[in-house]
Amino acid sequence: MNVPKSDEARSLNFIEQIVEEDIKTGKHGGRVQTRFPPEPNGYLHIGHAKAFCLDFGIASEYGGKCNLRFDDTNPITEDTSYVDAIRKDIKWMGFEWDDREFYASDYFDQLYEFALKLIGKGKAYVCQLSAEEVNATRGTDFEPDRPSAYRDRSIEENLDLFVRMKNGEFANDSMTLRAKIDLASTNMHMRDPILYRIRHAHHHRTGDKWCIYPMYDWAHGQSDSIEGVTHSLCTLEFVPHRQLYEWFIQELEIFPSRQIEFARLNLSYTIMSKRKLLQLVNEGHVTGWDDPRMPTLHGLRRRGYTPESIRAFTALVGIAKRENVIDVALLEFCIREDLNKSAHRVMAVLNPVKLIIDNYPVGQSELLETVNNPEDESAGTRQIPFSRELYIERDDFMEDPPKKYFRLSPGSEVRLKSAYIIKCESVIKDADGQITEIHVTYDPSSHSGSAVAPRKVKGTLHWVSAPDALDAEVRLYDRLFNDPDPDGHKDQNFMEFLNPDSLTVITNCKVEPSLMAANHLDHLQFTRLGYFNVDPDSKPEKLVFNKTVGLKDTWARQIT
Ligand code: ATP
Ligand code: MG
Repeated sequence: MNVPKSDEARSLNFIEQIVEEDIKTGKHGGRVQTRFPPEPNGYLHIGHAKAFCLDFGIASEYGGKCNLRFDDTNPITEDTSYVDAIRKDIKWMGFEWDDREFYASDYFDQLYEFALKLIGKGKAYVCQLSAEEVNATRGTDFEPDRPSAYRDRSIEENLDLFVRMKNGEFANDSMTLRAKIDLASTNMHMRDPILYRIRHAHHHRTGDKWCIYPMYDWAHGQSDSIEGVTHSLCTLEFVPHRQLYEWFIQELEIFPSRQIEFARLNLSYTIMSKRKLLQLVNEGHVTGWDDPRMPTLHGLRRRGYTPESIRAFTALVGIAKRENVIDVALLEFCIREDLNKSAHRVMAVLNPVKLIIDNYPVGQSELLETVNNPEDESAGTRQIPFSRELYIERDDFMEDPPKKYFRLSPGSEVRLKSAYIIKCESVIKDADGQITEIHVTYDPSSHSGSAVAPRKVKGTLHWVSAPDALDAEVRLYDRLFNDPDPDGHKDQNFMEFLNPDSLTVITNCKVEPSLMAANHLDHLQFTRLGYFNVDPDSKPEKLVFNKTVGLKDTWARQIT
């Protein structure tokens, strides 16, 4: 049963308000049916996630159903590999469509029948103007279009030509079927829009059965009606299409689906056009649709984003009626919040320098216990090996430190995380003056877990035991574009704003041995460094990690 939310203090977005009103008035018997209609011509991105979180979300909120419908009306750009990627992404995000996976191409027969009906009513005609000739008939906002010379053909002639169009008698682009509506309409979409065009092309589902393919407006609305969609949620650019959507429903006397528009998601420093994302892939600016720098769901997953964080993000962004741009830092905030709760803390050294504990016995080693996640007691503890030779970050040592430097410097003391306090005694350098070894002494009574109350020192460093460390490659990412609105410049192409430093690969990292057991895409926090995950390129002989996001919001500071 569809029971509206009961809490009086709740605040509904405008779409929820419409749906609740419809349920209250018993429209469609209180039934709620939505759909998500991707075109299989590219991978889904975070903007699509916003759309389908809304489509599936509204359905589940009101006891309704959401269909997955592939809008596969363009045989030239579409491909089954995209269909598979889209299905995988929506499942990964946690949504189910059960047996309700539909394809606009499944409705080609029905759409054809609808077209015959329109022609029979004198509401559609076969037009032989070329695209340029149609353009030449166009008026302005204030002047009507001039009629096509073919506008007043008889119904019989239109039926005959349309059937022959379908039967393949005519060449690509030699004819179109156009609705006959209103050449003086203030809405350009009502000025005899094209319904079908001729494409002698193989379709990934219908094969060579069809050589006429429906245009978006013709296929989309009618597919909604065929599926009994009650609330057809789409982005604002479809506002001017709504009048046509409703005209088709009225003329064909089909199920009255209602189109409702919301603002698309725009993210700073990000492009969302599938065509442009494809260009990045094709021209090799990224390694593929799943490159961790891409705003695609495949890219975000590989980067280490979780479905929970993306759902939380779309909820935070909310539903608006006006275009806006969301700061990409909000998306990072969401993944940080999520991983803080769930990611195990481990030790990894990205830029290692050797640290030798002179008073630790040669050949000795021990296992020290450390907590997996201080935010989550149930995550338990693990043992990490400690020995005489360790690696620490090169940046964690300074020979001439400024005041208030709490890391290691000659004569200073720091704690090694989950281990002992050490004191720097001396350094060894190579011929170029580069430090090769830092020599320290440790205080055996200072272990953080010792019975005696541990001494406190200001700094704590992460480290890994040198003989036990695993080699790793770590990939660090920066924004793919170095302009907040790469797509928003009139005179400059978005490609000009590609950030040449968006990827940094560090190959000589050292990580703790427990990471041998980590699986592809596992999430981790590298202590003090940020959140990382295991890249699918990772192999036992060469571990590979991606940096998902830093521990703190460093961007806000960078931007100002
Ligand atoms: P194209 O330019 O190829 O049509 P598209 O992003 O609109 O690109 P579709 O596959 O048609 O691709 O999109 C599926 C659905 O996702 C549509 O209903 C569309 O409105 C919605 N959508 C696309 N981009 C965004 C976005 N940035 N924010 C919210 N919804 C979006
Ligand atoms: Mg689209």
